[in-house]
Amino acid sequence: MKIHEYQARDLLAQFGIPVPAGITVDSADAAKAAFDQLQKDHQATLAVVKAQVHAGGRGKGGGVKLVKSAQEAHDAAKTILSKPLVTPQTGPEGVPVKKLLIADGADIAKEYYLGMAIDRARGLPVLIASSEGGVEIEQVAHDNPDAIVREPIDPASGLQAYQARKVAFRLGFKGKQVGQAVAIMIKLTNLFLKTDASLAEINPLIVTPASNEHPDGQVLAIDAKINFDDNALFRQKAIAALADPDEEDPSELRANKHGLSYIKLDGSIGCLVNGAGLAMATMDLVKLHGAEPANFLDVGGSASEEAVTEAFRIILEDPSVKGVLVNIFGGIMQCDIIARAIVNAASKIGFEVPLVVRLEGTNVEPARKILEEARKNIPTMQVGTDLTDAAEKITAAVAAVAA
Ligand code: GDP
Ligand code: MG
Repeated sequence: MKIHEYQARDLLAQFGIPVPAGITVDSADAAKAAFDQLQKDHQATLAVVKAQVHAGGRGKGGGVKLVKSAQEAHDAAKTILSKPLVTPQTGPEGVPVKKLLIADGADIAKEYYLGMAIDRARGLPVLIASSEGGVEIEQVAHDNPDAIVREPIDPASGLQAYQARKVAFRLGFKGKQVGQAVAIMIKLTNLFLKTDASLAEINPLIVTPASNEHPDGQVLAIDAKINFDDNALFRQKAIAALADPDEEDPSELRANKHGLSYIKLDGSIGCLVNGAGLAMATMDLVKLHGAEPANFLDVGGSASEEAVTEAFRIILEDPSVKGVLVNIFGGIMQCDIIARAIVNAASKIGFEVPLVVRLEGTNVEPARKILEEARKNIPTMQVGTDLTDAAEKITAAVAAVAA
């Protein structure tokens, strides 16, 4: 699960990491008022107007703008809200911007990268840090891998102070910066472990220029991206409540509500399968026979007739679906539930596109009977004898319609 930057900054602050003040708004007028507020409460002379979308690289796409007056904040907000934001992470059509963060602007002497992730090779959380911050860490990893420091963490004891100091010195923090950076690393690790995060990035972590009050500058987080492990949300109610349905694909949300694992893809063959492994194999076979899957859909083992009917509805409502392949290996899932859902879907929605059904396993005999009786009402339906036969039939049927 992903959250917005403004929510991630709140979490950082809750765990004691210093973050400049910010106000979330959804209009240009509110952005103007937010600038005035930051000026009044924090003596801000500089603010940053930031698009709140679940995609990074906003700076490059014009989604982050520095402003020096309430009027400039208004104008920047108006521009960002007026069109979809295209960044290196969104795809060419971009994403709509509905919310903006107006944050107290920081003066930057140097930018660093600080992140937490899971190191799958070691099977441990890992702290990742670099003195080359602000830019994409993937690019740094590619161009200058030595500039990245990795420190594995024992999840039972968390990041130890000596480890954090080692990283802080490697990054080149000096004087009073070291203690600040060490505290931030330890707090970020706590946040990561306590919230079941899968990724927690501060990019950039900055040092402000020296001042009388802070002769070595201040270490601050001015951007944050945190993702969470979906499988842990049952015990992270406060985190789960941060989800923003505006940022999710509506069909994926609907599928989720019915306990279906659905991911929309670019192809034309809708696939309805039980089990993630079988779903992958089915998608591979569709590709092998020259077509592309329109989705990944695992109905799981315990889906009801209603849930499976909903699955057909989601597939058939997608205009890019030109054919449907049903591949069920009934174990816990009973084939007759699938057959009845096909009959329901045929009467409520209708299969205008070719349909190929391959069923094996539990209750396959009653399922075949149901489909045999329904055949006259579903003229586009064919039965596949095995997986390869089914993949061949659906790709051929779709090609025949297209020709
Ligand atoms: P991202 O592009 O989506 O990662 O958004 P960021 O929040 O990281 O902003 C991109 C860049 O804008 C940063 O690397 C900074 O160089 C700059 N920036 C963001 N906030 C501020 C700020 O408060 N003050 C200054 N001077 N620059 C900022
Ligand atoms: Mg950033």
